Amino acid sequence: MSQAKDKDAYSALIQALRVFPNVGVKTAQRMAHTLLQHNREGAAELLAALDNALQQVGNCRHCNTFCEGEECTICADEQRDKTRLMIVHMPADIAAMEAAHCHDGLYFVLMGSVSPTQNMDLSHVALEKLIARLADSPVQEIIIATSFTAEGDATAYILTELLKEQPYKISRLARGMPLGSELEYVDAGTLAQAVYERQLLQEKKDAPC
Ligand SMILES: [Zn+2]
Repeated sequence: MSQAKDKDAYSALIQALRVFPNVGVKTAQRMAHTLLQHNREGAAELLAALDNALQQVGNCRHCNTFCEGEECTICADEQRDKTRLMIVHMPADIAAMEAAHCHDGLYFVLMGSVSPTQNMDLSHVALEKLIARLADSPVQEIIIATSFTAEGDATAYILTELLKEQPYKISRLARGMPLGSELEYVDAGTLAQAVYERQLLQEKKDAPC
């Protein structure tokens, strides 16, 4: 097999595919091979879908999630509790929460996370948009629903610092045992966190006389 020359269409495709995070030359070459050799129809669909999405999809002016038009369906829903705002990393997190039917308030999507390994780089989180969202809003409670990763913890810390002078009730999702799990199969970190964040079932009572 001959190597592609610089600047030809094949090389340009490989270069373009590297737009994705964690995609290096080898992975980009494999992707290009799949698209050009095995699935040209899929490649054309991808091209059309990408072009359409670039034309149609923007960010909701309230919650910052992806949507078509100015406002997403959740922000437009009058039935949602406007006093409670859940902050998540990505639009997919909203889908997960909605599937769980456990939050009837609104959301704000940071569209990224704080990186503790890069000097707490804040450039990938929409903090200014969040501040603007909260100004003159009826929000009373903020639920920080960031991931339980180093990035999620750093993001939760930054949010807590950012909001600590504000009057909101602020909470973060609890860490704990997965539903349906048995103790012996749960990893030590999750188990320890479940012990630290255990819930009180009954206060201590005086011993009966
Ligand atoms: Zn919205």
